[in-house]
Amino acid sequence: MTTAERLLSRIRADGPIPLPDFMAEAVAAYYRRPRVFGAAGDFVTAPEVSQIFGELVGVWLALRWHAEGRPERFLVAECGPGRGTLIADALRAAAMVPGFAATIDLHLVETSPTLREAQATALAGFPATWHDDATDLPGGPLHVVGNEFLDALPAAQFVFRGGAWRERRVGHDGRDFVFADGPEARPPADLLDRLPAPREGEILEHAPAAEAFVAGLARRIATQGGAALFFDYGPAESGFGDTLQAVSRHRAAPPLAAPGEVDLTVHVDFSRLARLAQGEAAAAFGPVDQGIWLVALGLPARLTTLLRQATPRQTEELVSGAQRLIEPQAMGRLFKAFALMPGGSEAPEGF
Ligand code: SAH
Repeated sequence: MTTAERLLSRIRADGPIPLPDFMAEAVAAYYRRPRVFGAAGDFVTAPEVSQIFGELVGVWLALRWHAEGRPERFLVAECGPGRGTLIADALRAAAMVPGFAATIDLHLVETSPTLREAQATALAGFPATWHDDATDLPGGPLHVVGNEFLDALPAAQFVFRGGAWRERRVGHDGRDFVFADGPEARPPADLLDRLPAPREGEILEHAPAAEAFVAGLARRIATQGGAALFFDYGPAESGFGDTLQAVSRHRAAPPLAAPGEVDLTVHVDFSRLARLAQGEAAAAFGPVDQGIWLVALGLPARLTTLLRQATPRQTEELVSGAQRLIEPQAMGRLFKAFALMPGGSEAPEGF
């Protein structure tokens, strides 16, 4: 049975299903497919654009290691590592810092068996442990990185209809998956409190799984120490609106049309995640523009070093990749960096 068939038979049996259930099934099925990333796949992520991205994440981790007094064991976890490109580049940068790489205890949080294999290949023998869920990570100060991970976690939506908020569900009209109004439901109060009075038909979205993940991680970092660094796209302030989007072959696609066959994401509401983290006694930093963060971490100097030994073709790739990562009209402003630290910490590098 395909994902669409499975979802359809569930809708036929039970009626319209919650959007988070639809998105969770669709995303899990999608990442089991081959050829998701890269020019021949559906979309290109920052670590796939330039090796410098992962290298600078490695530099950031090394700076945290120094700031923590160069501990003998440094617990690192990447969430949603994709093809493993970011972590492989980060480890190469880490190897240039005397004494650092040998302290790294590496954990990868990844649900897709296809991608776990790709990650093992990218790591080329560097030891790692895989987990389905971040709550299974070992204890102690934890250093988490994640690029385009939070946006893949399932979102919930509400629609304001006839003076009341209703859950927005996914049904089927005999031909297509369609949105359907579900039962009356209360959106999270802290979100409603910050927004103006809704108009008829207004949509309110939030991401229960991303919120639970960030709150749990913030609580852990606040009590056990460590740091987290995420890159994703989304607004700096919470607002109304439906941001569910699908991408297939580098183009936007209808979000409900082909569950499991297209990449489904939502915008990440950084300000809400920051408030939730602060509520757990952690400190939240950012969001800052990815371009600004990368330049602050030393992208120009790293590019200059790489260009010294580059062939003309590599030179062109390195320069265009770096431009794509940092230029405001490319990925530099749309994507943001966001960090969590123990409460009361000074801002980490780049924030
Ligand atoms: N960080 C990579 C991949 C981003 S795509 C890059 O930048 O190229 C999202 C990643 O998150 C994929 O590896 C996907 O399999 C993983 N993922 C999605 N939902 C997940 C979940 N609930 N738990 C763990 N990993 C998940």
